[in-house]
Amino acid sequence: QDDIFKNVISHAKEYGYIFPSSEIYDGLSAVYDYAQNGVELKKNIREYWWKSMVQMHENIVGIDAAIFMHPTTWKASGHVDAFNDPLIDNKDSKKRYRADVLIEDYCEKLWQKAQKEIEKAKGRFGDAFNEEEFITTNPRVVEYLSKKKEILERMASGLDSGNLEDVKALIEELGIADPETGSKNWTDVRQFNLMFGTKLGASADTAMDLYLRPETAQGIFVNFLNVQKTGRMKIPFGIAQTGKAFRNEIVARQFIFRMREFEQMEMQFFVKPGEEMTYYEYWKETRLKWHLSLGLGKENYRFHDHEKLAHYANAAADIEFNFPFGFKELEGIHSRTDFDLKAHEQHSGKKLQFFDNETNSSYVPYVVETSVGLDRMFLSVFSKALQEETLEDGSTRTVLKLPSVLAPTKAAVLPLVKKDGLPEVAREIIEELKWDFNVAYDEKDAVGRRYRRQDALGTPFCITVDHQTLEDKTVTIRHRDTMQQDRVSITELRNIINEDVSM
Ligand code: ATP
Repeated sequence: QDDIFKNVISHAKEYGYIFPSSEIYDGLSAVYDYAQNGVELKKNIREYWWKSMVQMHENIVGIDAAIFMHPTTWKASGHVDAFNDPLIDNKDSKKRYRADVLIEDYCEKLWQKAQKEIEKAKGRFGDAFNEEEFITTNPRVVEYLSKKKEILERMASGLDSGNLEDVKALIEELGIADPETGSKNWTDVRQFNLMFGTKLGASADTAMDLYLRPETAQGIFVNFLNVQKTGRMKIPFGIAQTGKAFRNEIVARQFIFRMREFEQMEMQFFVKPGEEMTYYEYWKETRLKWHLSLGLGKENYRFHDHEKLAHYANAAADIEFNFPFGFKELEGIHSRTDFDLKAHEQHSGKKLQFFDNETNSSYVPYVVETSVGLDRMFLSVFSKALQEETLEDGSTRTVLKLPSVLAPTKAAVLPLVKKDGLPEVAREIIEELKWDFNVAYDEKDAVGRRYRRQDALGTPFCITVDHQTLEDKTVTIRHRDTMQQDRVSITELRNIINEDVSM
C-alpha cells in the first residue's frame, strides 16, 4: 500500500498534476500546487459537482463569499472556542500527533479484524451467510466491535468534558505506540486551535484581528436571508459554494489528503424544523450516488455514521473512500439543526428567519449540509485511476483511467510522421475540436510511445493522422482503456468524443 501511494505522488509530479509548493525552497509542509494537468482535473471535478448540485436542482443556487469574514462570525460559529485538535507529543521521537487520530486508527484495526472474520465466514457459508446475524452473534466479532465502540465513547467523553488526562490514559491503556518509532513515551494531551489568524488594516491601533475561514459554510449562513429574499427562494432550498478554506493542521501528512490550504465544495440545505431527517437521508443517498456515478467501484465507498456529534449537529455521517492508506473521510453530511442561524442572530442582533406565507409566521430553518473536500476528491479519483496493466505480449503499461468526463485533455492528435503534410492535417483537426474540448498535439517520438504517454496522462482518446488520411479524410481513434483502434471519418470525431466526455 505504501508503494502504491508513493507511486501516486510521483506520478502526480512527473505528469504535471501536483507539485510541492515553493519546491525550489524545498517546499512548504502540507501545501501543494496544482500543475498544468492538475488544474484541469480539479476544475472538472468542481464543475461536475456544481452542475449536479446547482444546475440540476431548481431550488439550489450558488454564491462565492469572501475568504475574510467579520471576526464575530467565528465567535458565533463556535470556531474560536471549539475548533481544536487534541495533540500529543512523543517524548522520544519529538513527533506530534492528533490524539484522536491515534485512537481512531487503533479502532480501525479492530474494525479490520472484525471484517476479516466476516470475510472468512462468508467463504465458509457461501449463500447461506447472514451477515447481520453473524455480526451480532459471533463472539470474536462482537468483542472487536464492542471494544471499538467503548473506546470511541470513552474518547468522546474525555474530549467533550475537557478531561484530557482521560484521553492520555486511554492511549496508555491501549498501548498505542508512535506509529513511526514504536515508542510509548507520551506527553499530556493539549488542545490546539486550528484557525489561521491575520490582521486587517495597517495601523497598530486600528488593525482588526481576522481569521482565514476554516470552512466555507459560514459565508452561506450569513448570506442566508440575502439570497432567500433576492432569489425569492422557498423552503426547502439550498445554497452551494466552492472555495478555499484554511486550517493549521498539525499532523498534515498523506499528500493532498490533509492540507493547510484546501478547497471545499459545500451545500447548505434549509428546511422546515422537523423535516431535517428526511432531507438528511435524502442527501446521504444522493451524494453517494454522485460518487458512484464516477465509476471508481462501489466497493471503495462506505458510510460512517458518527457516534460522537459535533456541537452543532443532531446527525452526521461521512462518506469514506478507500484511499491508498485505507478508508478515510471524503465527504461529510451533517444535520446542523438551527445552530448556526440562531447563533448568528444572537451575535448580530439581526433576524435570520424565513417568512412562511402559508402559515403567516416566521421561523429559523434547520440545515442539512453536504461538505466535500475538492482535493480529497482529486486524490480519490487520481489514486484509483492510476493502474499498472500487464498486456497480452507480457509488457506493462501505466494508464491513468480517469473518468473521461474529468480528464484534463480529452484527445491528443498525433501525426504518424513529421512530414508529408500530416502535421498540417493534425493541426486542422485541432483547430476544429478545440472549440469544444481540451485537445493536445504531439509529434515527438514513435507513435507507440506517444500512446503510452497519453495513457499515463489519462487522455481518453488518441487520434492518429496517417497517409490514408490524405486520401479519404479518415483517421484512427484509439481508446485509452481498451486500446482498441477504429478507423473513422474526421467529421465524426466531435460526436464520438462528445458522447464519452460530456457531463
Ligand atoms: P477530518 O476529520 O479528516 O479532519 P473534518 O471532519 O474536520 O475532516 P469537515 O470539517 O467536515 O472535515 O470538512 C468537510 C470536508 O473538507 C472533509 O470531508 C474533507 O473532504 C475536507 N477537508 C477537511 N479538512 C481538510 C484538509 N485539511 N485538507 C483537505 N481537505 C480537508
